Amino acid sequence: MADRMTGRLARLRGTLRAALVGPQLAAFVPALALGVYWYGGEGLLLFFALVFPAVLALTGLLTDGGRRRGPAGRDPVTGLPGRDATLRAMDRTGEGGAGLACVVLEIDDLASLRTRYGQDSVERILRQTADRLRGTVRTHDLVASLAPGRFALVIDKTARVDLEVMVQLCARLQAALGAPLSLDQARLLITACAGFALPGRLADPNGAALLAAAEAALDEAQHCGPGAVRAYTAGMRLATGTADPAAVEVMRALDEGQILPWFQPQISTDTGALTGFEALARWNHPEKGFVQPGAFLPVIARAGAGERLGEVILFKSLTALREWDKAGLDVPRVAVNLSAEELRNPRLYDKIRWELDRFDIDPGRLILEILEDVVATAGDDTATRTIAALSRLGCRIDLDDFGTGHASITNIRRFGVHRIKIDRSFVTRVDSDRDQQSMIAAILTMAERLGVETLAEGVESVGEHTMLAQLGCGHVQGYSIAKPMPFEETAAWIAAHCARLATLPSLARRA
Ligand code: C2E
Ligand code: CA
Ligand code: CA
Repeated sequence: MADRMTGRLARLRGTLRAALVGPQLAAFVPALALGVYWYGGEGLLLFFALVFPAVLALTGLLTDGGRRRGPAGRDPVTGLPGRDATLRAMDRTGEGGAGLACVVLEIDDLASLRTRYGQDSVERILRQTADRLRGTVRTHDLVASLAPGRFALVIDKTARVDLEVMVQLCARLQAALGAPLSLDQARLLITACAGFALPGRLADPNGAALLAAAEAALDEAQHCGPGAVRAYTAGMRLATGTADPAAVEVMRALDEGQILPWFQPQISTDTGALTGFEALARWNHPEKGFVQPGAFLPVIARAGAGERLGEVILFKSLTALREWDKAGLDVPRVAVNLSAEELRNPRLYDKIRWELDRFDIDPGRLILEILEDVVATAGDDTATRTIAALSRLGCRIDLDDFGTGHASITNIRRFGVHRIKIDRSFVTRVDSDRDQQSMIAAILTMAERLGVETLAEGVESVGEHTMLAQLGCGHVQGYSIAKPMPFEETAAWIAAHCARLATLPSLARRA
């Protein structure tokens, strides 16, 4: 009963607030002032000018718990409050968070919507989504935007808030988002995963902890597939819940297309011909310029955005393959790196297969680079099944950084590895160092017995290149051939390489 009264009061307060401080009132202020002046002269006008704002301020109507006012901290696309405003509102409204429940929803696969429909369309999708979310909850529940496509809903505990109610609420929110969206002529269906947290499940349910818990639950939901819902439980990792500014920045960079693959050629030692390009992630940072993966991959991992990075790199790599084909350039394959985290994702196989279908690219043209250590430690789990299934699909498996980990011969067979990438530490000075030559020779003999191909990486000099060719290594990659380059430079490099091959055929050939 008391809850219902509080709810009604809050709604009345909301309506009054909207009427008194909304833009509609601002439109009447000059007319009101003129009327007051005509009616009561300067004295009454002065009284009006002083007393009107004072009354609003004293009744607390200008302050709104940080919920709906002030352009600062708002998401520029949807106009919703951002993360900081949400935390402030939670700590103010809900006795430090204890009286609230929090849901975080994220549109599934926003990155591919952006690549398919473009930034403008994605912004329209985000605005329509925000409107639908606002329309689904009560006026005094807070709807906020934490990152592009990621929304938080803070539910004021004016009604019963328990597991059942929250599951039903998530279902309502998902149903609202699931209705077709109109995009020019097209009708589009989107899905979203949801995670939620109830204060009773947290030792100290302050606003930040509640939001972090809901995001951890969302993370868990996203590992279960599109449209999944999860409640926060004590065992969940709160990694994505913290408002780590670096993580927020890197997520935004991924969404805005600042992180892209550069391409490094791989060539045959037999013919000197280009056999493929390895895609290596680069962040074209608006202030810092090009950032190497060593500097941002840990942030991506912390932000739980490894899956999204993988999607971006795969999509751009397959796009590049299509572009080379269209330009009549002979690029047989493209190689992408898969992290251990990506390989644990049960949806990875379907996603890769779907992308290959969509681009109509033969799976044999996609090389998946998997670290030797990942293969060595994989038991009979998702990663093992995914690698084996991708190999069966026809994708080529390269064992990356070979020699630094502990991959067993059994695992090379079990995972259907096609090629081992001999780590740079064995390649450096192989032309002058006898021990290096013995190591490389031993690795090459083993590879030959197992029937797998070989590629030496980090080849920095013509001497190393020549020695590797003489020892019988099948492919080479490294600065002596070319450094990684943006896609736009690849066509010119291919043309120059073909011209070089025509004039210097012996350089790259096996002795
Ligand atoms: P990696 O897969 O072993 O890639 C080879 C690294 O060696 C690349 O560094 C490349 O630029 C560098 N490199 C190539 N040739 C030479 C050479 O002749 N000399 C020397 N000194 N270095 C050479 P990069 O681009 O900084 O990448 C570092 C690591 O980051 C990669 O090691 C890979 O493990 C990871 N990485 C890069 N892009 C991605 C990605 O899209 N996804 C994932 N999961 N990991 C990535
Ligand atoms: Ca690699
Ligand atoms: Ca490597």
